[in-house]
Amino acid sequence: MFVIFGLAGSKPEITVSTEYLNCPNCHNQRFWNLIHERTNFSLFFMPVFPIKNKYFKACPICNYGQELSKEKYLELLNKTNGN
Ligand SMILES: [Zn+2]
Repeated sequence: MFVIFGLAGSKPEITVSTEYLNCPNCHNQRFWNLIHERTNFSLFFMPVFPIKNKYFKACPICNYGQELSKEKYLELLNKTNGN
């Protein structure tokens, strides 16, 4: 039997946060984006399960970003959703 498996990055989930930040790179003040990037283990080009998660917050203008811990990401996401 012929089996194809691999790793595939899926489209990142982007949420506009309620954090109004001054970007240290482009010096614009904007609501930064919260970004969740997933890499999936795939079989026959179908994502089967996620093996790697990465969390960032990033400037929407120049994409300058900072990596976040999962806890911090969820905390910011909860704030954004008004919880
Ligand atoms: Zn920027």
